[in-house]
Amino acid sequence: MTVKTRFAPSPTGYLHIGGVRTALYSWAFAKHHGGEFLLRIEDTDLERSTAESVQIILDGMKWVGLDADNEHRIVYQTQNFPRYKELIQKLLADGHAYHCYCSKEELAAMREKAEREGTATYDRRWRPEPGKTLPEIPAGREPVVRFKTPIDGVTIWNDLVKGEISIPNSALDDLIIARADGTPTYNFCVVADDFDMGITHVIRGDDHVNNTPKQINIFKALGVNPPQYAHLPMILNEQGRKISKRSGDTVAITEFDSLGILPEAMLNYLARLGWAHGDDEFFTMRQFVEWFDLKDVSSSASRMDMKKLYWINGEHIKAADNAALAELVRPRLEQQGIVPAERPALADVLALVKDRAQDLNALADECAYFYRKAVPAEADVAKHWDDEAPARMQRFAAKLEALPEGDWTAEGIHALFKPFCDEEGIKMGKLGMPLRLAVCGTAKTPSVDAVLALIGKEEVLRRMRG
Ligand code: GLU
Repeated sequence: MTVKTRFAPSPTGYLHIGGVRTALYSWAFAKHHGGEFLLRIEDTDLERSTAESVQIILDGMKWVGLDADNEHRIVYQTQNFPRYKELIQKLLADGHAYHCYCSKEELAAMREKAEREGTATYDRRWRPEPGKTLPEIPAGREPVVRFKTPIDGVTIWNDLVKGEISIPNSALDDLIIARADGTPTYNFCVVADDFDMGITHVIRGDDHVNNTPKQINIFKALGVNPPQYAHLPMILNEQGRKISKRSGDTVAITEFDSLGILPEAMLNYLARLGWAHGDDEFFTMRQFVEWFDLKDVSSSASRMDMKKLYWINGEHIKAADNAALAELVRPRLEQQGIVPAERPALADVLALVKDRAQDLNALADECAYFYRKAVPAEADVAKHWDDEAPARMQRFAAKLEALPEGDWTAEGIHALFKPFCDEEGIKMGKLGMPLRLAVCGTAKTPSVDAVLALIGKEEVLRRMRG
């Protein structure tokens, strides 16, 4: 049996990180088993689904790099209406579904009674049973189609994350599978597509646990074995509450891009959020696929920890290829109005500074002064730029100017420091800090000799004398 999983988002807004984690686990499970990971857009809610939201989902999936195996034939539920109709007809013909002509008022009265008595809502008035006389069909009223849920017994499944779950069928309604206008309802469409797509494992958020027994019963009525189910606990915010945009939490996957998080770090973080492989924190997606097993997914909710996300991001920045990193940092510099010159090459700058930042925006700031001198902070000036500094920097500039081109290296520049400090009768700090301010405009730089070597002689002298 080929394992087939799917991610089935509803395109009603943005791509939530909870959704991305669901997609990631579905993807990793399929890949671990040499199977397929499919994408299905659940767009039957015509009022809430928009083409723009579909695009946001596709862009988000692309950004994190979770490629669906059906990328060129993504399933859109709105394209499957004829098929849903066909399957509903089959259920009607096989006696697993029936027409119900209840009015809104009748249903409201039933709901009230059910709430009082704590039973399932629908009183099965129109459910055909041997020997039962059905009410008279009201003239001119279009019926809905209801599913004949088993009356007795329990629906049980072995949830691959939560363990055995058993729901008494008496708690389930004869749910509506087609509305009076003929359109199919949510739970029915999910079953029809999971069936047609040959899904073997449904991995989804645990907000769907209540739908599962309904879906299992529909599968059985269609005469097919239901897939296996795994329900993932939710992601809570740092305060332990449901993560939400309204509470100011970072939720949409694109917001993490704006924060300067790398897609591979995002996936690494989300993988670890609710799943563990020993003490491993920093790993690649290849390792994740190799290690991933649903039995290691935690059955309780996980909490967002932005500090940890930034730490993992920092680790991925350190491990990233400098040329690839340069392409991600370049647009962030351009946003600050800085177009990196050919020299120093951005990749070389990154090699020097990339262990100093935990996100791409901070990393761009670390690169900025290589291309444009920063405006020094007042506190730095007060601390490091004393009355002696201007003249002393001019004297040091002369030493730098005298350095032969071939010695313009970190080592060559470094070799000037001690003799200069001896000559001036100062400690190294009295040279290094003002030198950073004079050349970079900031006191926070890596080793100043290496920085000067990269910026280049001409530019260093221009800045010191400018
Ligand atoms: N469309 C549902 C959602 O976005 C997922 C349904 C499912 O995975 O079965 O929550």
